[in-house]
Amino acid sequence: MPELATTKRLTRPMIVELIERHGLAPSRALGQNFLCEPGTVDKIVRLAGVAAGDRVIEIGPGLGSLTLGLADSGADVIAIEADRYLMRPLTEVLETAGLRDRVKVVHADALEMDWGSLVGPGTWKVIANLPYNVSTPLILDLLRDQPTLVDWLVMVQQETGERLAAGSGSRTYGIPSVLLSYWATARVIDTVPNSVFLPRPRVGSALLRITRHADAPIGASFDRFATLVRAGFGQRRKMLRRSLAGLLTIEQIERTGIDPTARAESLTPAQWGALANL
Ligand code: SAM
Repeated sequence: MPELATTKRLTRPMIVELIERHGLAPSRALGQNFLCEPGTVDKIVRLAGVAAGDRVIEIGPGLGSLTLGLADSGADVIAIEADRYLMRPLTEVLETAGLRDRVKVVHADALEMDWGSLVGPGTWKVIANLPYNVSTPLILDLLRDQPTLVDWLVMVQQETGERLAAGSGSRTYGIPSVLLSYWATARVIDTVPNSVFLPRPRVGSALLRITRHADAPIGASFDRFATLVRAGFGQRRKMLRRSLAGLLTIEQIERTGIDPTARAESLTPAQWGALANL
C-alpha cells in the first residue's frame, strides 16, 4: 500500500486488501464495520475540532481508518482495541503512514480495562466509531467512571444516538436519555450513510456529540438518581406515586412541584434531579 504513506487514509480497496492478506473475518459480535471512505474520516476529525496537541481516546480503532485521521491532525491518540487479530494490521497501517509515534495502541476490552493507569490526570477527547452493540453501556459507564473524558464525538447506531440525546416529550426519551443527562448533554449532529462502511451495517448510523457538564447540576448521588429513574421508567405506564412508591412519598413528590399522577416520560431531567435531591 505505497499510497498510504502519502495519503494517510484507508480506502475501500486498501481495506479489502488488508482483510484478505491478514485472513480476517469482520466480527459481527465485535461490531466490526470499518470506515472505508476518507471523506467521512475527514468530516469526523473536522467536526470534533481535533487540533495538534489534543489528547484523544479512540475506542475500537479497527484497521485504523479514523486513527489515521486523528493522528494526522497532530493529536496524541490512545487507541483501545479488543480484537487481538487486528493488532498486526493496525500497527502495519500506522507504520506505513508514518504515524506510529502518535498512537499508543492498547489491546483491551474498553468495558473491562483499568482506565485509571492509562489516562491519568488532564482532560481527553473521545472520538470513535464505537462498536454499536455496546455503545450505550460504554458511554454511560465511562461518563460515570472517567471524569477526565470531557468532549465526545462518537459514531453510534442512529437509534442509540437519538435515544441518548432525547428530551422529555420525545418518542425515544427513556432511561439512557435521563441517565446521560446527569453527566452531560448530547446531540445528534449528523447521520452517516451505510455505504461508507465495510461491511455495511444493517442499521443507520449517526454522529453523537456529548459534552460533559462543567459543574454537576444535580446534587444527589448518581446512584440515588439512577434508582429513581429506573423505578419510574421500569413501570412507565404507571403514575409516579405508584412507580416510585417505597422510594418517595406522595408528599415528597408534591414538595418538588411535580404532579404525583404524572408518568415518568413527562418529567424533564431537571425534574428527575429535583426528586433525587429530596
Ligand atoms: N474505528 C474503526 C473504523 O472506523 O473503521 C473500527 C470501528 S468498528 C465499528 C468497532 C471496533 O471496536 C472494532 O474494531 C471492534 O473490534 C472494536 N471493539 C468491539 N468491542 C470492543 C471493546 N469492548 N473494547 C474495545 N474495542 C472494541
